[in-house]
This record gives sequence, C-alpha cells and structure tokens, in this order.
Amino acid sequence: MDASGQPAPAPLLAVRDLVKNFPVKRGFLARAVEEVHAVDHISFAVGAGETLGLVGESGCGKSTTGRCLLRLVEPTAGDIRFAGRDVRALRGSALRMLARDMQIIFQDPYASLNPRMTVGAIVGEALIIHRLVATRREFADRVVELLETVGLGADHMRRYPHEFSGGQRQRIGIARALAVSPKLIVCDEPVSALDVSIQAQIINLLEDLQQKFGLTYLFIAHDLSVVEHISTRVAVMYLGRIVELAPAAQLYAAPKHPYTEALLSAVPIPDPTAKRRRIRLEGDVPNPIHPPAGCHLHTRCPRAMPICAAEIPPPKETAPGHTVACHLY
Ligand code: SF4
Repeated sequence: MDASGQPAPAPLLAVRDLVKNFPVKRGFLARAVEEVHAVDHISFAVGAGETLGLVGESGCGKSTTGRCLLRLVEPTAGDIRFAGRDVRALRGSALRMLARDMQIIFQDPYASLNPRMTVGAIVGEALIIHRLVATRREFADRVVELLETVGLGADHMRRYPHEFSGGQRQRIGIARALAVSPKLIVCDEPVSALDVSIQAQIINLLEDLQQKFGLTYLFIAHDLSVVEHISTRVAVMYLGRIVELAPAAQLYAAPKHPYTEALLSAVPIPDPTAKRRRIRLEGDVPNPIHPPAGCHLHTRCPRAMPICAAEIPPPKETAPGHTVACHLY
C-alpha cells in the first residue's frame, strides 16, 4: 500500500537475491580453481520514472550488477523482473525486445564508440537492427532528431568519434541509447571520466531527458557526491553486497551504515565554514575471492564487534524505505 492506501504499483525493475560469481582460472589447462564473488545475493527495486543511485568503490560489483540486468553477463543465480517479465528466462526475439526497453551508457564513451563509424551510423545503428525506420530519409531525420535532443547538431552526423570532446562523446552515447526509446537506462559511471564542469552538464542533460521521456535510471557511481542530486534513492554496495538503501535525502542527511558514513565523510561540503569529520577505514578493500566472513566490512570497520566476524548482518528496515545491513541495528 502507498501513503494514500492504494496498492503500491509494481516496480519497473525488481531484483531478488542476485548472484554473480566469476571463475578464476589457473594452470596450463586453465581450470577454474576459485571464484570471485562479484555480486552476492543483492535485492532492490526501481520504480518507473525514478533514479536509483548504486554507489561503491571500484570492484564492489556495481557495474557487474548493471550488466547482469541487461544479460551482458549471465547471472549465476537470482531473479530479475523487468516490466513483469522474467529477464533470465528470455530468449531470441524476447531478449532482443529487452535490449530495446533497457539500454546502457558506459563510463568511457570513446572506448564504447566504434572509431571507424560515423556518428550518424553509431546513433542510428539500432534503428536498423530493430527495424524502426523504413527509408533512408526517415533514418536521417531520426538521427538528426536524436542528436539535437542531446545538444548536438545535424552537421555532426558525418564526423567520427575522435573529432569530439569527452562530453560530446558521452552525448553521442546517450543519443545512441535513446534511439530505441528505452524505458530504463543503466548509466554505468557515465561522468567518471569527465571534467567536473562537464559532469554537471551531462547530469543535467540526463535529468532533462528523464523528465521529457519518463525514463527510469539505475545510476552507477563510485562517488556519493555524483549521484546526490539525480537520485531518488541510493543503494550503497561493499564487496558484492548492498549495505544500505534509503531515500536519497535521508541517506545524505543521516547515514546509518559505517561504510556509508565513511564514504560520505570524504565528500567535500560546499559551505567552507561547515566541518565534517573524516572517517577513514583501515586498510584496503579485501580480495573478493576470499572476502572476510560475517560482515565483509569487519576487518576495516571502526565500530566492529565480535558478532561482526561471525554472522552476516541481515538487511533491517530502520525507517520506511531505509534498509541497513549492520549488527548495530
Ligand atoms: Fe561494522 Fe559490524 Fe556493522 Fe559490519 S556489522 S558495519 S563490522 S558494526
């Protein structure tokens, strides 16, 4: 039920107990001897039109999570429902339809754009694959429309990716994603490689596009400051697990998990008179092949207790919509 007593609408995307392990191969025969536990039983949902920020240090499993949703990597276990469809069961044309409804924007727009294709061919490729245009004229008109939607011009169509700046290349990546009119876009660190001033422009563009087309975003970032203004809710990941998930305003104003507190303490505050105590976690992120038992953070957590090394803290709802996985709660 929602606040008005009506049944809450089903989320556009619902992920339950998602697991992704990658084999570690060694020796002459390249036998799988161990596994990297990249994503370790995570669950979350994203409502239509909202932005879920997914934040954590590199190697925490956030990009793998995004790729599992689109089946760019096959999940090991778990359930993914998108608009009521069982994503893991999709095959053939149903899987191709998923690629229309769910798109991805990558961190490095240069690496993800074919340097030998013109911008027009890159942006319009999916129009042909999915037979969304019937004539050359329609193709050209739609490509120009897409380029203008992201702040580029018709004259950019015949140029090549290397002729553009990082920010412009990311705009091309966004235009390419929009070509198939998706419902959800996985934004995989879309601004991490850009200068700070350009980052704001791309985030503003993504916000405008969300308003205009009713888009839903899973916005992946390694820095909490990047997702603060764009996110409706934020999920914080550490070593393959979601440790805290809350409405954005609540998470930034009153973080509960020691890991979120530490991440947030590293975010600069715009007000020079305000002070925030920096919380430093001891040591490095442990090896995900052999993550610490119990709470993965216990080897670095300033508030660790004996139980933390022995038992995995289950996620607990401490306030409506605010979930924390920590033995302190
Ligand atoms: Fe720290 Fe223990 Fe909470 Fe983990 S469960 S974050 S080690 S207090």
